[in-house]
Amino acid sequence: MNTLFIDGRWVAPKQGKTFNSIDPAVEEINQIIGAAGKEDVDLAVAAARRALDQDWGQSNGCERAVYLDALADHIDAHRDALAMVEVCDNGKPLPEAQWDVADAAGCFRYYAQLARELDERQDAPLVLPDARFTCRIRHEPVGVAGQIIPWNYPLLMAAWKVAPALAAGATCVLKPSEVTSLSALQLGMAATRVGLPPGVLNIIPGFGHEAGRALSQHSGVDKLAFTGSVPTGAKIMSSAAADIKNISLELGGKSAFIVFDDADIEAAVEWIMFGIFWNQGQVCSATSRLLVQEGIAPRLLERLVEAARAIKIGPGLEPGVQLGPLVSNEQYQKVMSMIIQGSQEAELITGGIRPKHQPRGYFVEPTIFDEPDVSSRIWMEEIFGPVLCVKRFKTEEQALALANHSRYGLAGAVMSSDARRATRVANGLRAGIVWVNCSQPTFTEAPWGGMKQSGIGRELGRWGLDNYLEVKQVTEYVGQEPWGWYLK
Ligand code: NAD
Repeated sequence: MNTLFIDGRWVAPKQGKTFNSIDPAVEEINQIIGAAGKEDVDLAVAAARRALDQDWGQSNGCERAVYLDALADHIDAHRDALAMVEVCDNGKPLPEAQWDVADAAGCFRYYAQLARELDERQDAPLVLPDARFTCRIRHEPVGVAGQIIPWNYPLLMAAWKVAPALAAGATCVLKPSEVTSLSALQLGMAATRVGLPPGVLNIIPGFGHEAGRALSQHSGVDKLAFTGSVPTGAKIMSSAAADIKNISLELGGKSAFIVFDDADIEAAVEWIMFGIFWNQGQVCSATSRLLVQEGIAPRLLERLVEAARAIKIGPGLEPGVQLGPLVSNEQYQKVMSMIIQGSQEAELITGGIRPKHQPRGYFVEPTIFDEPDVSSRIWMEEIFGPVLCVKRFKTEEQALALANHSRYGLAGAVMSSDARRATRVANGLRAGIVWVNCSQPTFTEAPWGGMKQSGIGRELGRWGLDNYLEVKQVTEYVGQEPWGWYLK
């Protein structure tokens, strides 16, 4: 089981433990994967430290950009194969997987450019109010980065973490989710192909409570970057507290989509569906709470139900499929139990069951609940499946209050043909990402992350690079006179 990528080599886990990659459309094993344990984490962190102390930590941005561009080219060149891997491991429809792979390549290419620009701003002078001093600002790599990612966008989440870290000159120990490790292994192969120096990127598939915990508690890790659920994020944060590790957390959400009476119904239906059924609703920023103004509600809901029922459900490789299976049996059971509970809390207006034509695989029909109570679990908690909850509102103030009444603050969306109202509402939403007249479009250039319990820090854009940089001021006394405080 040589599936751990440590110090540029493929090795088996020391304890010999394994887990299965399962195809969620057919519930069959794709591959058996070695599971990293504590000793393997130690080896990976040591390799990352050596690489940092050797050439990589001293390299400049232009040198690192060459590797980042090569990784982007490699991903582009293997786009179809990588997308197939993602479909078989995660279940998403092929066009969505192709989109993810293209985005992952784009992410490496974007951070290659930022790495080059980093050289230009290295040692930039800072003008101080006292001319007897000069100051230059340096950006130095944060060190060894421990990176833990979820299963919903396996390759893309790896790219969001690895690309900025490498651009900054940090070294990485990446732990993919035990539910979807296959594309991360492909990334390890890409690293070999492009000649990335050994130890710069280490990939250790394994369980969260073993490899993940060992990595987050490791004293040799300088930075922990985590994407996943709030409960795991809390554990990561307390691990980081022990030795004050630098952390960034991208956690869950229960985002609201506010639709006003003056919205175009067809456009609203399109974006509402994109906001909750894309990737089977397994999207941190999914706009899973729909707030509809009373006037438009009856017609909008009628069209929404009609359109949700028309979605083509099936295995991700089948042509035309728009909704694949959920990622795992565990996720299927979680979503179904929330649906069962939700049926007692609100009116189930469509879905809520396994589609009749899919007797196996973890499929759930697009599901819509009408008017759950604001304190109900389906309204308050992240379901992470194709489940939309709808409530009506009368006024703008009421809509904003309902939207912001959440422990989460990842994303939000508003749709209205009144531009001033849309701007007011967008500004009033307590969320790190707000979409106006759309939901979900994501750009590598723009900051990504949440407020409240949705996380700490931002990924993507220049903010993503900053996650992996330490900022240093070097201040020099250049005055002609002695300082003269003690020695007059
Ligand atoms: P999860 O928290 O169960 O697992 C995420 C990762 O953490 C996995 O690699 C897992 O192995 C690891 N892990 C589990 N226990 C651990 C521990 N004790 N110590 C260290 N690592 C541990 O989340 P998931 O089910 O894989 O993903 C779904 C969640 O991720 C949702 O809540 C979703 O909103 C969130 N998410 C957030 C973003 C974002 O950008 N904000 C993006 C994608 C997913």
